[in-house]
Amino acid sequence: MITETRVDAETGEWRLSAPKRAERPDDARRASTGCPFCPGHEEQTPPERLRVPAAGDGAWRVRAFANKYPIVSPAADLESATGLFPRFPATGDHEVLVESPDHDWDLKSATYEQALDVLGALRERSRALSGPRPAAVVVFRNYGVAAGASLRHPHSQLVALDQAPPGLMGRWRLARGHYTDTGRRLVDDLATAERTAAERVVADNGVLVYQPYAAAVPHQTVLVPGDGRGTLADATDDGLAAVARILPPLLRGLAEVLDNPAYNLVVHAGPSDVEAKEVARWWQWHVEIHPRTTTFAGLELATGLLVNPSRPEETAPELAKAVSAAR
Ligand SMILES: [Zn+2]
Repeated sequence: MITETRVDAETGEWRLSAPKRAERPDDARRASTGCPFCPGHEEQTPPERLRVPAAGDGAWRVRAFANKYPIVSPAADLESATGLFPRFPATGDHEVLVESPDHDWDLKSATYEQALDVLGALRERSRALSGPRPAAVVVFRNYGVAAGASLRHPHSQLVALDQAPPGLMGRWRLARGHYTDTGRRLVDDLATAERTAAERVVADNGVLVYQPYAAAVPHQTVLVPGDGRGTLADATDDGLAAVARILPPLLRGLAEVLDNPAYNLVVHAGPSDVEAKEVARWWQWHVEIHPRTTTFAGLELATGLLVNPSRPEETAPELAKAVSAAR
C-alpha cells in the first residue's frame, strides 16, 4: 500500500494520505467478543514483534505488532514531486502495542507494575524502531472515540517517521536555539520557572507535572521526568519508574475533574537519527496529556489560534487536589 505525504502549497503543512486507514474497523464501542486484541485472537493480528509473557500457558501481559492499517509504510514506490503539488513517499513504520490482555482494563486503573510494564515495552519498541532512519519515533495513546481510538481494547501506538514533519522540527529548533543561546536546556529552565511560579504545578515527586502557561485546552498536562535523556528509547529505569508511579493517579484525577474525558497521550522525544548523547544536551523526553473537551471551530481553522476557555492557573490546583486524593 502506498502512503504519501502531500505538502500544501499555501501553508507549507504536510498531510499524510493513507486511504487504507478508511478500512479500519469502527468498533470502539464493541464488547470483547471478536476483539482482535483480546487473548485467543492473536492470529488476527500481524506477526508479533514483542511479547511480555505472563504466568500460564501462552499467556501475555503486553504484545506489539505492526499496525494492520499503517499511516506510513516501510517502502513506497512513489515518485516525488515539487511545484504546486509537492509530494513524497510517507515511509516509516507503524506499530500497535496492546497494553493488557484485559479488554476492559485501563491505564488509569493500572498498578505501578502494570504501568511500568507498558512504559518498559514502549521503550523497548522505541529502541527497536530507532536507527539511522527514522528521524522520529512518535509514541501516543488515544483514549475515547473523540480522541480517535477506533478500538476500545487498551493500546498505544508507535509511528516511526523517516522524515520529521515541520511541527516537530519547529519544537526541536526552539529547544536547540535556547541551548545555543544559554548553554542550558529549555525544558530545565521551564521546569525551574514553573516550580518558582508554583501556580500551575500539579505534582512534583520525581516527575514534574504541570499545566503549560499557554495551555491549548483545559487541563492540558505535561509530565517531565528528570532523567536527562532526550528520547523514550534512551530513558533510564528511574525515569520510567517515576512516570509509572504518577501516571495512573494522574489519569484518575483527570477522569474525576473532567468526567472521564477522551484524551491523547503523547511522548515528546527528540530526534532518533541523532546520537542520543547529543540529543540529551538540548532535549528531555516528556509526556503530554491533551484532553478532548473542546471542539476545533472557525477561528482555529482560519488562524491556527486555539481558544482555551479556561486558565491553567485555575485548573492546575483543581487537578492537583484530585490527583492527591487519587494516590
Ligand atoms: Zn479486546
